[in-house]
Amino acid sequence: MLRQSIRAAGLKVTAPRVAVLEVLQHNPHSSAEQVFTKVQDILSGSSTQAVYGILAAFTSAGLARRFDPAGHPALFESRVEDHHHLVCVCCGAVQDVDCVIGEAPCLTPSDSSGFAIFGAEVTFNGLCRPCQNQAETGPAE
Ligand SMILES: [Zn+2]
Ligand SMILES: [Zn+2]
Repeated sequence: MLRQSIRAAGLKVTAPRVAVLEVLQHNPHSSAEQVFTKVQDILSGSSTQAVYGILAAFTSAGLARRFDPAGHPALFESRVEDHHHLVCVCCGAVQDVDCVIGEAPCLTPSDSSGFAIFGAEVTFNGLCRPCQNQAETGPAE
C-alpha cells in the first residue's frame, strides 16, 4: 500500500520514504521533528535533513499536506483531500474537520479577483476541551 502510493506519486520507493509515509499515516499532524523521532524507531540512522527532504518531496508530489498553524511549527499529514482544521490556540492540538459541502471548494470568497478557485483551507482557531476546562478552573495555586 505505502510503496504503491509512493510509486503512484511518481517517486522512487526507498526505505526512508516508506518509513516517513508510515509515520504520517499513523500520526497525522506531526511536525518534521516528530516525524523524524518516529522514523528513527523504524529505521535507525536516518538524518533530520533526509526526513525534511522527504516531507518536502511528498508535499510537492501530493502525497502529504503541509499545514502551518499560527504560532506552531508546520505540521504534515498524509490525508491530502480537502478538509479543514480546528486548532487550539493554547496547546496547539489539531483536529480534522470534514468539508461541509463535500466537494472543493466548500466556500467561496466574497471577491475571487478573477482567480479560478479549486480549493479552500480553513483553520478554525479556538480552545480545545482540556484547555477550556483549565481556563474555567483557573491556574492551580
Ligand atoms: Zn488546548
Ligand atoms: Zn488534517
